[in-house]
Amino acid sequence: MTVIDHTIVGGPALAQERRLVTPIPGPRSQEFLVRKAAAVAAGVSHTVPIEAVAAGGGVVVDADGNSLIDLGSGIAVTSVGNAHPAVVAAVQDAVAQMTHTCFMISPYESYVAVAEKLNRLTPGDHVKKSALFNSGAEAVENAVKIARRYTGRPAVVAFDHAYHGRTNLTMALTAKSMPYKSGFGPFASEVYRAPASYPFRDGLTGPEAAAKTISLIEKQIGAENLAAVLIEPIQGEGGFIVPADGFLPAIVEWCRANGVVFIADEVQTGFARTGAMFASELFGIVPDLITTAKGIAGGMPLAAVTGRAEIMDATHAGGLGGTYGGNPVACAAAVAAIDAFENEGMLEHAQRIGQLLRTRLEALQSSDPRIGEVRGHGAMVAIEFVDPETKAPDAALTSAIAKTAIAAGVIVLTCGTYGNVIRFLPPLTIGDDLLAEGLDVVAAALAELT
Ligand code: PMP
Repeated sequence: MTVIDHTIVGGPALAQERRLVTPIPGPRSQEFLVRKAAAVAAGVSHTVPIEAVAAGGGVVVDADGNSLIDLGSGIAVTSVGNAHPAVVAAVQDAVAQMTHTCFMISPYESYVAVAEKLNRLTPGDHVKKSALFNSGAEAVENAVKIARRYTGRPAVVAFDHAYHGRTNLTMALTAKSMPYKSGFGPFASEVYRAPASYPFRDGLTGPEAAAKTISLIEKQIGAENLAAVLIEPIQGEGGFIVPADGFLPAIVEWCRANGVVFIADEVQTGFARTGAMFASELFGIVPDLITTAKGIAGGMPLAAVTGRAEIMDATHAGGLGGTYGGNPVACAAAVAAIDAFENEGMLEHAQRIGQLLRTRLEALQSSDPRIGEVRGHGAMVAIEFVDPETKAPDAALTSAIAKTAIAAGVIVLTCGTYGNVIRFLPPLTIGDDLLAEGLDVVAAALAELT
C-alpha cells in the first residue's frame, strides 16, 4: 500500500492549507462572476462564489489566491484527489495518442480495460459485462433500457428522495421537484414512486419499510409489469439517507423471486466513497446491474453500467452506445484512478475520514439539539438540522451554515429533500489536520448562528 503524501498530491503541488487573502469572493472572482452571469444561462447556478483555478489534495484555489478546504470533491468526484498525478500522466499520454475514434467505430484497449476492472470490482462473482457512457444520468437511462429489453416489461420503480439525473427519463426517476423538475415536464411514463427507508423520519425497521414498499409495488404496479427497481444504496442528493438494516436485502430478494432487475445506482456511493468499494457491500446485497460515474475517472467525464452478462447481453447490436461514451482519454483516466482506488489505500482513507467525521459531528450533536441526526458511511457523512422540539426540517439554518463556512474558506454542500442536510464528501486524499480545521469552521458557524 502506498502512503499518500498530502503535500504533493494534486498536480500544481498546492500548499495544503486554508488561506484567505481576500474576502470571498475576491476582486478577480467578482469580475469573473460578472462575466459568468452575462454569458452563462441562469439555470446553471453555483454554490461557491469564486473563480477556481487549481485544486489538489484537499484544497481548491481561486483566482485571488484564496485556498479553500474542499469538503465536497466537486460532488463526490475527485475522490482520488483532484489532478491526481497518475491520472494527469495517463490523460496526457492518452490525449497525445488519440483524442477520439468512437468506440462503436474503431474500438480501443482502454475501454475494455475499464470494463474488465468494473466487472471484477463490482459486487458478486457471477459473469459480468459493462458498457460505458458520459454521465451518471446517461448510465441510469441505459440501465433502464437494458432492464426493459431483458424483461420485456415497461415499468420502473424509483423511490422517495431519489436522485438519478436531469435528462427526461432521469428527471422522472428523480423525486424532488424544485429545482430538478419544476416546469420541465411532461416526464417519461411508466415510472412509479415507492417509499424508501428513512429511519430518522419513518421510524420503521428495515423489514417493516420493505413490506410497505413491496405491498405498494404489488398493489399499484404488479410484478408482471415491472422491469426494474432502481435505488441508491445510500440516497445522496435526497439527504445521505441510510436505509434501515434489512431493507435493501428484502427488496433484492423480492426482485429475484419476481424476475425484476435490481439496479443499484452507485453514481455517488461508488469507488471507496463509503469505505467499501461499493455501498452495496455494506448492506450485503448483490445488484443485477450497477451504475457508476463521478469518482470513476478522477474528474474526467465517464460513467458505466455493469451487471449480469445475460442481462447486459440482452440488447441487440447497436442498441447501446453513443458518440463519446467511453472516450479514450476518460478511459485512460479511469484506469489510473481505479488503480489508485485499489492500490493507494483509498478504502482505509475513507474509513479513517469517516471516523474523524463521525467523532467530531457526534460530539457537536451531543451539545446541540438542532443536529437531529449524524449519519453515513466512510467519507460520505451528513448532519440533518431540525427544530429540536418538533423535528421539523430547518433549511434556513442549514443554508446559513453552508454560506458562513464558505465565506470562511471551507467548501461544504447541502442536500436533502427538505434542504436541511449538510453533507461531507472530502477527497479521500485530504489530510487529517485540514479535515479537522474544516470541521472547526463548521462548528464555529453553528455556534455563531444561534
Ligand atoms: N445518480 C446519482 C445517485 C447521483 O448522485 C447523480 C449525480 N448527483 C446522478 C445519478 C447523475 O449523475 P450526472 O450528474 O453525472 O448525470
